[in-house]
Amino acid sequence: MLNSLRSIVQEVNAARDLPKALAIIVSRVKRAMQTQVCSVYLRGPNDEFVLMATEGLQQQAVGQVRMAPGQGLVGRVVTREEPVNLEDAESHPAYQYFPETGEERFSSFLGVPIIHHRQVLGVLVVQQSERRRFDEGDEAFLVTMSAQLAGVIAHAEATGTMVAVGAAAEQARFAGVSGAPGIAIGESVVVAPLADLKGVPYQQCDDIAAELEFFQRCLNAVRDDIRDLGTQLEERLNREERALFDAYLAMLDDAALGGEVTAKIREGTCAPYAWSEVILEHENNFAGMHDAYLRERATDVRDLGRRVLAYLQESNQSCKIYPDNTILIGDELTASMLGEVPEDKLVGLVSVQGSGNSHVAILARAMGIPTVMGAVDLPYTRMDGRPVIVDGYKGAVYSDPSKQLRKHYRAIAEEERELVKGLEALKDLPCETLDKYRLPLWVNTGLMADVVRSLERGAEGVGLYRTEVPFLLRDRFPSEEEQRIIYREQLEAFAPHTVTMRTLDIGGDKALPYFPIEEDNPFLGWRGIRVTLDHPEIFLAQIRAMIKASSGLDNLRILLPMISSVSELEQSKALIYRAYHELLEEGYEVHLPPLGVMIEVPAAVYQARELAARVDFLSVGSNDLTQYLLAVDRNNARVAGQYQAFHPAVLRALQQVVNDGHTQGVSVGICGELAGDPGAAILLMAMGYDVLSMNATNLPKVKSVIRAINLEQAEVLLEEVMHLVDAEQVRARIDQMLLETGVNRVVRPLEIDA
Ligand code: PEP
Ligand code: MG
Repeated sequence: MLNSLRSIVQEVNAARDLPKALAIIVSRVKRAMQTQVCSVYLRGPNDEFVLMATEGLQQQAVGQVRMAPGQGLVGRVVTREEPVNLEDAESHPAYQYFPETGEERFSSFLGVPIIHHRQVLGVLVVQQSERRRFDEGDEAFLVTMSAQLAGVIAHAEATGTMVAVGAAAEQARFAGVSGAPGIAIGESVVVAPLADLKGVPYQQCDDIAAELEFFQRCLNAVRDDIRDLGTQLEERLNREERALFDAYLAMLDDAALGGEVTAKIREGTCAPYAWSEVILEHENNFAGMHDAYLRERATDVRDLGRRVLAYLQESNQSCKIYPDNTILIGDELTASMLGEVPEDKLVGLVSVQGSGNSHVAILARAMGIPTVMGAVDLPYTRMDGRPVIVDGYKGAVYSDPSKQLRKHYRAIAEEERELVKGLEALKDLPCETLDKYRLPLWVNTGLMADVVRSLERGAEGVGLYRTEVPFLLRDRFPSEEEQRIIYREQLEAFAPHTVTMRTLDIGGDKALPYFPIEEDNPFLGWRGIRVTLDHPEIFLAQIRAMIKASSGLDNLRILLPMISSVSELEQSKALIYRAYHELLEEGYEVHLPPLGVMIEVPAAVYQARELAARVDFLSVGSNDLTQYLLAVDRNNARVAGQYQAFHPAVLRALQQVVNDGHTQGVSVGICGELAGDPGAAILLMAMGYDVLSMNATNLPKVKSVIRAINLEQAEVLLEEVMHLVDAEQVRARIDQMLLETGVNRVVRPLEIDA
């Protein structure tokens, strides 16, 4: 059973369009369950469930038979959201007869819902003429099948709504979550890691002769590589093993894979996509075979596939042209992918993986680039070159938008520009409430470009400089001197204001390309201070570079990430003192900078007093603290809805940290994304936070809200929300207050009803 399940899902996965996927499902499930009928009904327009594919019923019924929820047995499966298993279907009161199906021959009926993201997408049905109830095993098999297929069908459905570039494409909407607010209207450019067979963007080719020649050139290059490899290994391999190289060479021939790809190119498909399609199909065929030896051959096909693809893509890389309004789309966008697009051309981002708190989203917010994360059903490989709208407020992506929709969004973008212009006037005004309570607003930085943006928006200091960003954009660790130069630039740009530099915080979703950390559970693994304490050479070089860079400016503070115990803090302090004393001995005129810890792990919340007693300041990292308190992976789109920064448990922790920090007389700030949410900023001010540090884009919005209220109002609001029991209630109460104060438009400037 498990083998059947796996091979059916694999085959369906490889189908590149919905009709193919459905045809595979009905034929393979029918065979695996040895029934006479298997059919799939899918939700169509008007919410009716339409027969989309069948084996066993009359083909003319496809597209004709449709049932509303509650109507007929299929409709009953939909409303119950549970299997319906009947020995004698006809005698059931809900049974409805459709003559075009010819189903009077079939007595027993088993229908299970196909559910994706809590929504019934369709119904999978098996029937047979013999009057007997399908047994428990059958039911369990079909339920498992349907659960596995739901995501694949949703994806194939989404792909089905897209037609080839150049034809009259239909507008399609894909939901994700907001990564960075704002609207972007542009043309998509799909990025994928090289040699990823499943991520090759679909492109048409105009010059077929040139494409065929290019393909042959790449095949020849791989042939040469394989021959070289064969010669190098000749001595070490036996005859059988050497035969593998000949098999590889044969596979590339026109009579084999090469020929199939050539045919696709002749139809106008670009070589990399045509190649990946053929390889995936063959890989799947092998993977689904019963014979273990043949199944293993899937690995060979994949390996060969990657080798050729690397050549096909490599030659395309250097000439990558980015349109003026590039919307970068990828399965999993990374900071370095953003770095490759010229800054003036990048207007929007869409990532299939990840959520609003992934680091790439944080970077996008800092850069002010509208972003949608977790667009899990987006058929991204089919998106290259398409016109796209990114709605970073709602977390939605539109492909091939209609004229009307473009007009609508252009108006919104214009209104947004006006709003930003209006906020510019606040730059030189202090961040204080109507009753003159001062709350310093600082910025989070990482890129050099952040400096200008931050100063333009009137930042009064840097609460978090993410040193990993310059590390991420390189292909090796930067040397101590290279680091010193980068840090000096930051410190000079903001002097005399404070710059809080956090020591290297890698791990989790921040992997350095040259220092990979492979873990099953990276957010609970080797992250932040755990990595650098294990590598004192990296830590010491960084601390030395920071302290040297601050010479004569003295506006540096050092911040330690992911501290979960006092001993980690003590070990870090020992290394910092060591670096400092080394520098003094070497003759540098430097001072020991103030030291702080991030409170971003629940253990640190409960030890905030002990930690505060040993440092100069605390800074709450609410991004991680929320994920760890709520046990919700900040990077996982599936649980993005459960990542609630306004969860009462988070609010209580935030209040406790500030209270405990103050008992020790240290300053307590917050540098998680929550600080940049104007509604949250009101609560944080009332809790007593001494400084809020946020992305530069949000700073003027927060300032304008703080300037529109008085401290007492904020305290009353806090008192009220601390009694509420869930995040939605908290959010609603804050929104209501913003509305009453008349500053709601600053927070969410535009109600978009597209
Ligand atoms: C945080 O966790 O809140 C934080 C500021 O650090 P980062 O987002 O870089 O993990
Ligand atoms: Mg963090």
